Amino acid sequence: MSDDTKTISILGVTGSIGSSTSKVILSAPEQFNVQNVTAHSNVDELAKKAIALRAKRAIISDEQYYNDLKTALSGTNIEVAAGKNSLIEFAEEPVDVTMAAVVGIAGLEPVMAAMKGSSAIAVANKEPLVSAGELVLDTAKKSGVKILPVDSEHNAIFQVLDEKRRNLIKRIILTASGGPFREYTLEQMVDITPQQAVKHPNWSMGAKISVDSATMMNKALEIIEAYYLFDMPANQIDVIIHPQSIIHSMVEYIDGSVLSQMGASDMCTPIAYALGWPNRIKTPGDTLDFQTISKLEFYEPDFERFRSLKLAYACLEKGQWACAAFNAANEVAVAAFLDGRIGFLDILRINEDTLEQTEKTELNDLNSVIEFDKLARDRAERYIHSLI
Ligand code: NAD
Ligand code: MG
Repeated sequence: MSDDTKTISILGVTGSIGSSTSKVILSAPEQFNVQNVTAHSNVDELAKKAIALRAKRAIISDEQYYNDLKTALSGTNIEVAAGKNSLIEFAEEPVDVTMAAVVGIAGLEPVMAAMKGSSAIAVANKEPLVSAGELVLDTAKKSGVKILPVDSEHNAIFQVLDEKRRNLIKRIILTASGGPFREYTLEQMVDITPQQAVKHPNWSMGAKISVDSATMMNKALEIIEAYYLFDMPANQIDVIIHPQSIIHSMVEYIDGSVLSQMGASDMCTPIAYALGWPNRIKTPGDTLDFQTISKLEFYEPDFERFRSLKLAYACLEKGQWACAAFNAANEVAVAAFLDGRIGFLDILRINEDTLEQTEKTELNDLNSVIEFDKLARDRAERYIHSLI
């Protein structure tokens, strides 16, 4: 093992980000020593990934699958654990870097646990940053944990933002593909099905974030994510539609210079940047071929057809509690949409209603965030019942 080998744990190894992370590690196996890999219920994929990555331990958070995982890994020397408590306990183990790639607020407790043992946390899992950005960033600062943004836009900004001369920054500009329904009218959006919504034109991702991209809620969450990650006032965070997804985001400085990061629509690049940081490592993913790029287009986003963007700024004005309510409502609404219980445009209605019906609450520790998240979810569920 070389001196620059990093120990790494991957929370959510079976998902889309988990799979790209595995690809990055397997293309430079001498640079990583994999400790814990986790998944919620996909035993076969977890066992496969644990073996391929030569992980020390595999953890399945839904404990009913413990025996299945044990059987799948029998004959190997990979340790097996199950249950949410095991996930949290092992997330605390010391490693150089934890990849946070669980989907949703379910990733918050593991991320907070990782603060206890990780030198750095590569955060793809945006929902904890939206619901508890203050807590996560504060805890990281106090514990000396480096937060490495993985979300492609935030990773781009992380690469070009001059942290030491923040007063020279005019604004950050998040690019958005606009999703599959960029040109749909509101009337056309009424009948959008889950099958249509999960098909993104540029990126291949998990179901929840694909629906978020279709409603542009993903960009709304990313505005809030940027606010907390970069400690940037809301009026210095802009969004521009860039359908080609080649420029992943930009920082504009006061002298008019705009620095951007470009790359293929492949999460291997931001993941490699986070895992290699402060060095760079080779990517096994797609790279840009300039000969085939005929144009780069930019448009103002339509805040009327995609009201989620407006809501994000409204949440930032209200505070952390509003961001947490917004995220909780959206998770419930997306799950209901994917289950066929509500229509596409109901997602936004549920988010708006939950925001209106929840009240300002101080969220200054993990328990208060968890309780408030539950309250907002109950509210969203009640609204869904009123619709059906
Ligand atoms: P995914 O649905 O493909 O994978 C989610 C992973 O989380 C799986 O390994 C699953 O087993 C695990 N998981 C699900 N529920 C869990 C629970 N209750 N407890 C513990 N583990 C659980 O999701 P994804 O597309 O890989 O996205 C992961 C996160 O990264 C999301 O927050 C998403 O917004 C963010 N992100 C994803 C992409 C992308 O390209 N997929 C890009 C940017 C950011
Ligand atoms: Mg993104």
